[in-house]
Amino acid sequence: KLSKRLQIVASYLPQGANFADIGSDHAYLPCYVCANDVTARAIAGEVNEGPYQSAKDTVTYYQMNGSIDVRLGDGLNVVRPAEVDQVVIAGMGGALIKSILEQGKDKLQEVKRIIAQPNVDEKNVRSWLINNGYVITHEGITEENGHTYEIIVADKSENQMSLTDQEILFGPFLLKNRPSVFYDKWKLELEKRLRVIEQLQQAKVKPTDKIKQFESELNMIEEVLT
Ligand code: SAM
Repeated sequence: KLSKRLQIVASYLPQGANFADIGSDHAYLPCYVCANDVTARAIAGEVNEGPYQSAKDTVTYYQMNGSIDVRLGDGLNVVRPAEVDQVVIAGMGGALIKSILEQGKDKLQEVKRIIAQPNVDEKNVRSWLINNGYVITHEGITEENGHTYEIIVADKSENQMSLTDQEILFGPFLLKNRPSVFYDKWKLELEKRLRVIEQLQQAKVKPTDKIKQFESELNMIEEVLT
């Protein structure tokens, strides 16, 4: 059974999706999508040999070779320009997702929708999206095995979306709707930042810029929680 996290990701793909799943690992997501929609097509990309073999094995096991193409390569290098309409990048840090998008920019010209599921540093992904021709249209958050996961959906648009620092950090839709998981997450994040600031304060050479950054985030979190 597909994880709740990836089910939410899948729910944002349209009927007849033609998408790339970058960092697909076992290719569970494309197998689930294509099994439930015979008109869907997918490319499963993997940079590492082990996960690439796992992806091929899963696709063969579910007899999905007609719908899913498994390819070995770094980020969006595995797709040709205009080959896909949607891109999924899930289960990695926000910094890595951002760098995959940035390095694959030329492959995104025709990509209508990007679904990103960063495990941490979501703000990197949001700021990249709104600075590169996308508007955020949906956000989700879910808890699984003691970790919270955010899902960010962005659509290509002529319009420029502008977000406040608060919206970049928390997510414009999550901030508006504030589901209970959102509070759970930011309570933990508040504690984490308090600990980090304490550690940085004790350093021989105080990294003042870093401390300032953490303190400003801490203030934003306190504001949202009270
Ligand atoms: N997307 C799946 C999910 O959400 O469950 C798998 C997530 S797994 C934790 C991250 C995968 O991304 C790993 O299999 C790793 O090999 C792959 N990966 C990391 N950097 C990559 C890159 N630059 N290009 C393609 N795949 C990458």
